[in-house]
Amino acid sequence: MSDELRKKQKNKIFLKKPIDGIQKTLMVSSAKGGVGKSTVAINLACAFKKIGLTVGYLDADIYGPSLPKLINNKKKPETKNGKLIPVEEFGIKFMSMGFLVNDSTPMIWRGPMVISAIKTLTEKVLWGDLDIMVIDMPPGTGDAQLTFAQDIKIDGAVIVSTPQDLALVDVERGIEMFEKTELRILGLIENMSFLKTEDGKIIDLFGKGGVEKISKKYQKELLAQIPIHKDLRVSADVGKPIVIEKNEHEISKIFIEMAKKIKLSFD
Ligand code: ADP
Repeated sequence: MSDELRKKQKNKIFLKKPIDGIQKTLMVSSAKGGVGKSTVAINLACAFKKIGLTVGYLDADIYGPSLPKLINNKKKPETKNGKLIPVEEFGIKFMSMGFLVNDSTPMIWRGPMVISAIKTLTEKVLWGDLDIMVIDMPPGTGDAQLTFAQDIKIDGAVIVSTPQDLALVDVERGIEMFEKTELRILGLIENMSFLKTEDGKIIDLFGKGGVEKISKKYQKELLAQIPIHKDLRVSADVGKPIVIEKNEHEISKIFIEMAKKIKLSFD
């Protein structure tokens, strides 16, 4: 953690700035990488669009921005009066470090650079007026998470995890960090909950009930349980979110239900 962040954390000086034009800001976070955070974030954003909201999407996973791949768009954003114009796809406005650097550039960020990258993404983008902004956070509880939690007005956070014990330890750490920075946790999302075989058999690949247990312990809502599904993986690989491509799909329905729940908790 950088000295600046440590000092703020200690003194609890949180000057939370709203992002220009954005009504509600939702952070999608995970304590660990590879649990499906970006997959959940993009489909949730599309589900907000499906239920009639105007949506922005900020890929703040500066260490490994996956957005250009997830929406199959690698356009360099244009600028106007020194500000970036978001890239539009499926009626959603997107911004990502991935649009600004080459695919092969390794992103090795250190404390102050993280903060300045986040400032660029939040202050130097012409978002326009939007109902909701979904922020795909980098995994973990480091400088980037703290900068967001302390400096930017976030209306709520959801935490994605698999039911695996190894992932759950870090979820507790994530919850505690958000609570310290007075960030409202709307609930937990269990991804890769189970796998259903073609003959209907359920396999609990990563264990069972883990996220539910934590949600009870910390009195947080379990917002959804998303199974492992080949169609979800394929949709990510071809850059067409499943909620956009197949809105009647069982997985899309889970996301749309979840978007409605989150919208209600913001109203
Ligand atoms: P993270 O953002 O947490 O690093 P990703 O969203 O990139 O994770 O997901 C990791 C991998 O798992 C990707 O290949 C993604 O397509 C796949 N994936 C995520 N969730 C599911 C799921 N429920 N079913 C099938 N594949 C999934």
